[in-house]
Amino acid sequence: MSSKTPKGLLVVYTGDGKGKTTAALGVVFRALGRGMKPAVVQFIKGKWKTGERTFAETLPGLVFLTMGRGFTWESEDISRDKRAAQEAWAEARRLISSGEHEVVVLDELTYVINYGFVPVEEVLEALAARPSHVHVIVTGRSAPEPLLAVAELVTEMKCVRHPYEKGIPAQVGLDF
Ligand code: ATP
Ligand code: MG
Repeated sequence: MSSKTPKGLLVVYTGDGKGKTTAALGVVFRALGRGMKPAVVQFIKGKWKTGERTFAETLPGLVFLTMGRGFTWESEDISRDKRAAQEAWAEARRLISSGEHEVVVLDELTYVINYGFVPVEEVLEALAARPSHVHVIVTGRSAPEPLLAVAELVTEMKCVRHPYEKGIPAQVGLDF
């Protein structure tokens, strides 16, 4: 392949340090500036509405989805979590294969794979079959080895220090 051939890259932001989701959102910000139509699927629904979700609603060029209502990793209803995860993955798959989004972020997808909700083979299959111009960014701790093996770019965030260790709680605008 010529070095000039456009190729969508698989990017993985993993590791225990803070910065994975925000790095991916930084790329989204950049892509929007280039007139692209990025898509974000968040495979986790926290307790709070995040700043990024609130802002995303004001950006017509951005597709921003969070997992189905009622989903939470704190839920005791595993089958409901699994179903929500699989529905979100089905939607993510559609967004990737449509070719309409030059950048697709699969935020916290690693958990969905590691919990066994979506087989890693299925993810690899969808990535391999995607239109060649589509960049995909996967975030989350403990990225599975088969995913790392096919990624063109892997960054591992290393936690040197985090305010949480001193009991400092998550900060509005910085953490969510
Ligand atoms: P961010 O969304 O800020 O980029 P992240 O995606 O790298 O963080 P996650 O593992 O998704 O991190 O965790 C999300 C939340 O957990 C964030 O509020 C973040 O501040 C916090 N967090 C991230 N890393 C650590 C850590 N090493 N210790 C404690 N809390 C952390
Ligand atoms: Mg994150």
